[in-house]
Amino acid sequence: RKRCIRISTGSKQLDACLNGGFQTMSISEVYGEFRCGKTQLAHTMAVIAQLPKEMGGAEGKVAYIDTEGTFRPERIMEIAERFGVDPDQACENIAYARAQNSEMQTELLESLAANFATNEYRLLIIDSVMALYRTDYSGRGELSERQQVLGSFLRRATQMAEEFNLAVLMTNQVMSDPGASALFAGADGRKPVGGHILAHASTTRLLLRKGRGEERVAKIVDSPDCPEREATYIITTGGIND
Ligand code: ATP
Ligand code: MG
Repeated sequence: RKRCIRISTGSKQLDACLNGGFQTMSISEVYGEFRCGKTQLAHTMAVIAQLPKEMGGAEGKVAYIDTEGTFRPERIMEIAERFGVDPDQACENIAYARAQNSEMQTELLESLAANFATNEYRLLIIDSVMALYRTDYSGRGELSERQQVLGSFLRRATQMAEEFNLAVLMTNQVMSDPGASALFAGADGRKPVGGHILAHASTTRLLLRKGRGEERVAKIVDSPDCPEREATYIITTGGIND
């Protein structure tokens, strides 16, 4: 039987809120405004997932689907140094792919099944999950079609998380329309995109926002086993930290 593993975020405070970190066998979604640290968290976790379990890792390889072209190997190397691991090795353990459109995003996910079948992988990152769907299905009349293809993508990701004991970390954007945000009272006026289909697929949801100065704040908005709590973190050369 597969056992669920928790992978550290790099911040002890945030890990404490998450009972140790993001768990394998389900989808975790991190959303928030630009520059709040979604991509930096993705980079940090891409290194931590490789670490021994005593260090909050999962001793596994990582798959990284980049939809915005913001992956930086140099950042992986800097974060690897913080944890005392070989920077080149850290990069080698990440299977990186850039998706140019939503169809390619689905194809890349499917092609990763062969990697996952080796049982060496513990983390799949999709940064960001909705960006390409939003460009490819931008018309009003295209929303239901978008949600349909998004649904099958998310079902496949959920299946893979369970079958291959993977933590799936998806980053997501927030609605820019202030009117739409104001209607949503739940999460500090910030609503993730992707609708109910994404909301239901994500087992754990985390809202990130800017705090005072360099400080950032993470709020658990949906979790099967953690109360709604907030943690502060900072972005450093070595990645997400307290
Ligand atoms: P977007 O919605 O635009 O994708 P994001 O949430 O992914 O935004 P990130 O790119 O993760 O945001 O975070 C950007 C922030 O990370 C910036 O404030 C930047 O200053 C900070 N940052 C990036 N690299 C470093 C570093 N080496 N040291 C410290 N801070 C850094
Ligand atoms: Mg980003």
